[in-house]
Parts: sequence; C-alpha cells; structure tokens
Amino acid sequence: MNIAARTAKSDTSGIDLDGFSKGLFIGGTWQEGETGRRIPVVDPSSETVLAEVADAGLADAAAAVDAAARAAPGWAATPPRQRSEILRRCFELMSERAEMLARLISLENGKALRDARGEVAYAAEFFRWNAEEAVRIVGDFGMAPAGANRIIVDYQPIGICVLITPWNFPAAMATRKIAPALAAGCTVVLKPATETPLTAYALAALYKEAGVPDGVVNVITTSTPGPVTSAMLADPRVRKLSFTGSTGVGRTLLAEASKSVISCSMELGGNAPLIVFDDADLDVAVEGAMIAKMRNAGEACTAANRLYVQAGIYDRFVAALTQRMESLAVGPGTDPETECGPMITAKAVDKIDRLVEDAVTRGARVLCGGKKLQGTGFFYPPTVLTDVPLDADMSCEEIFGPVAPISRFDTEAEVIARANDTEYGLAAYVFTKDIARGLKVSRQIEAGMIALNRGLVSDPAAPFGGVKQSGLGREGGSHGVLEFTEPQYIAVTL
Ligand code: NAD
Repeated sequence: MNIAARTAKSDTSGIDLDGFSKGLFIGGTWQEGETGRRIPVVDPSSETVLAEVADAGLADAAAAVDAAARAAPGWAATPPRQRSEILRRCFELMSERAEMLARLISLENGKALRDARGEVAYAAEFFRWNAEEAVRIVGDFGMAPAGANRIIVDYQPIGICVLITPWNFPAAMATRKIAPALAAGCTVVLKPATETPLTAYALAALYKEAGVPDGVVNVITTSTPGPVTSAMLADPRVRKLSFTGSTGVGRTLLAEASKSVISCSMELGGNAPLIVFDDADLDVAVEGAMIAKMRNAGEACTAANRLYVQAGIYDRFVAALTQRMESLAVGPGTDPETECGPMITAKAVDKIDRLVEDAVTRGARVLCGGKKLQGTGFFYPPTVLTDVPLDADMSCEEIFGPVAPISRFDTEAEVIARANDTEYGLAAYVFTKDIARGLKVSRQIEAGMIALNRGLVSDPAAPFGGVKQSGLGREGGSHGVLEFTEPQYIAVTL
C-alpha cells in the first residue's frame, strides 16, 4: 500500500476560517447564540482544531424559525423568474469559488481533494438544475369528468422547512435540499452536522452575496440536535422536515414529526449490493467497483457495501480489485496526491475495525489492509476481504469505510435473494454485458437506484432516494422540487 507522508499540520492557507465561524446565520446576520458555548471543528487528517462554531439553544432555534417566517411571504411572492436568477447566481458563485470550497470540505471532512472537487461540482449543479425547475412548476386545468365544473391544481410552497444534513457531503446534502426548497418558494432553517459546519456557513455567506434575501436561508449548529429539532418541529409554522442521515435518527425524527403531522422527506442509510456476473467486462466492473466503493473513501450512503461476484470471474475480479486497492495513495485530504483520506472520527475508525475483526473471526480472508493505521489522523487503509460469510455484521451494517467485502455466488436467483436480504434499499450496482439481463435483474432488486455497468448513480437531474428503510421521497430531478410544494385543488363552475 502506498501511504503518502502524513502531516500533523492542517493546510488552511487562503481559507477564511474566522469568517466561516462567526456565529449562527439567522435573518442574514451572524449571531453568537444564547448558550455562549462553542463547538470545535476538527481536521480528521491532523486531529487539530480548525475553528469553533456557535452552539445554538432553543431560543436560537425559535429565532431562526421567526426569521424564516418573516421572509416567507416575500419569497413566496417573488416571481419564479427572479427566484430562478438568484439560484443561477448561487451556481455561478459556487463554480467561481470551487477550489476554495473543495479545500474547505477536504479540511473539515478529510475527503481527498479530488472527491471534494467532485462534490462541489455536484452541489453547485443543484442550483443550476433548480434554477431551471423554478420556472417550470406547472399546475393543471381541466374539465371534471361529470362536466359540472373545472379542476384547477396549483403547486404552492409547502411553508417553512427544517433541513438536517450529515457530515459526509457537507455541501451537496445541503444544496440538494436548499435549491429545490427555494425554487418552490419556501424559506428554510438548515442544521448541518457539527463535524462539518464550516462549509454550510461558507455557503450561507455565498447565498447572501448571490441575492438570497435575509431570512430565506438560516443556518444553525448545535450540540443538542434532539431538543433543538423537536422545538422547531413543534412550531406550527414549520410544515416540512427534510432529513439526510442514518436510519436510526430518521426513525426518531419521523416519530417526532408525527406529533404535528409534518411532511417528511427521508434520505437514510444504505447497504448497497454490487453484483458482477460472469459475462461482465472485467475492466468496467473493476473500475465501477472502485468508484462505487472508494468515492469518499467509502463514506457514502450509496457505497458498495457487499460485493457479490459470480464464480467464473471471481478470481480475476478479486486479483484486479486487490491490486487497485493496494495501490491507492492514503494521506491528508488536502494533499492533491491523496486518493483515500481519513475517516471522519476516531469512532468511525473503531467501528470499521470492529466490523473487519468480526468478519475475520467468522472466516473472512484479508487480502490487503485490515488493520487501522497508527499515528496522527483517523486513517483506515483500503482493505479487501474475501469469503465474507453471510452472517458477518458487515453484511447487514453500513461499513462507511474503505473496505470491500467480496463473496462468491453461482446463480442469478441466489444473488438476487442475497441482494434483497436487507432492511435497506437505497442503491445497487449490476455488471453484465447482457443489457437485457441487466435490466431484468435491476427490476428485481429492491432499491431506489440501480447503476448498470457503472459505479456512480448520483445525478442532480435524476430522482435520488431509497425504498424500504432507506427513506421516503426523492431529491433531484423533477421530483425534488415537488417535495417542497403542496398541490391545491380548486373546483370552480365557469
Ligand atoms: P446521523 O444520523 O448521525 O446524523 C445526521 C444529522 O442528524 C446530523 O446533522 C446530526 O447532527 C443530526 N442528528 C443526530 N441526532 C439527531 C436528533 N436526535 N435529532 C435531530 N437531528 C439529529 O448520520 P451521520 O453519521 O451524520 O451520516 C451518516 C449517515 O447518513 C449514514 O447512515 C448514511 O448512509 C446516511 N446518508 C444518507 C444519504 C442519502 O441520501 N440517503 C446521504 C448521505 C448520508
């Protein structure tokens, strides 16, 4: 394995960390917050504190909802074309500052700069896509079948939205919600993850510069997300919760939202199968597996969590994948040579260690990696395991790290049954040169998204989301914006 020289120092040059940690962003101004407490933000590559952000309490949450409520009528009444042009400006500013934003993401999240650049492009695209959607939210007008009246259907902004995002895509998970919410005419309170809040605050300042009116986007960070979120969901002015994160927290929030019958969109955990049939193109399958497994060093909800390879291609696939995994450069995210950065926290590394140990105890073989790296930073090496038994913990838990567990299968029916043997249903990957077979298998897999002969499925122009316990609703495509609207029907006799 190629481990780049690791440094204990964070490279923060050219990044205005003080500017991005001034306080909570409420009503277009920076506020210290009622608790007076601060939350440290740690660089997972160097374990040094980059900055401290404000820690919101209940009064701050109420102030953020107040600000969103004050801004709501004006924003809903802003002509769609004007909203569209402001969103377009957000896209342009993000694109102009892409390199700075990518370095900021690498610093606080640890992901390799090349992944961070990809994230910024993906995140900015949600503004361009939704700038185009903002002027195309069309209703319906038609005759009732009985002929007595007309039916008018109009899509109205759903109201104030609470948005909660995880640390693994600090920019994209936020813009995937903010852009469609604003396109639909809603105002929002974003609560980003405390591990990676600086990107959210940097983007808040950018939205203001792009012309987003004060109060339309508010951002608060808190070390007590439970009570702060409950208080916002109990406010009758809040009508939407859009959450991305783990299935466990999603379940808790669904129960909380049920008290006020709030509309919920849930983007939750995954346990993606990656299936390679004998007739797959080996190079395409290995390249696809590398992307599906190693984008973000495996810290992705869509990450391939279980690799099933048919007996006839198994040995060649295992050898080629192991060679690619072993040659990855491990190092600090901001180092341009790095291909696999650190994990988000020491706890995340310990979880991966536990899952690998469990699989090995049950009979898995380690072909490369397999032990956490000692020294500064939360590093785990690219790891390939074979003969992973079906009852290993990693067969049903998200690994969220650079570990590829491979198992052999014989028949199509067997692998479909294995792929579906999970409570999750977010993404799946299928490799075969026979497209008809690929489509047939795809339709039998219980997942919201299938990548056929490729390792990447996310696209702002496509509906992203899961089935089963991977979530409710879709983000992106033409579906994403409708999640932030309510259809109103008017019956009228003309
Ligand atoms: P997490 O569920 O621990 O946290 C997500 C967010 O919820 C954070 O902002 C956190 O502060 C907040 N939170 C935690 N407890 C809360 C509570 N009681 N009330 C309100 N908010 C609370 O998840 P994570 O570790 O940050 O992210 C990783 C998880 O996210 C993985 O399970 C991954 O699969 C999932 N994920 C899903 C998608 C998707 O689109 N489906 C995308 C990215 C990540």
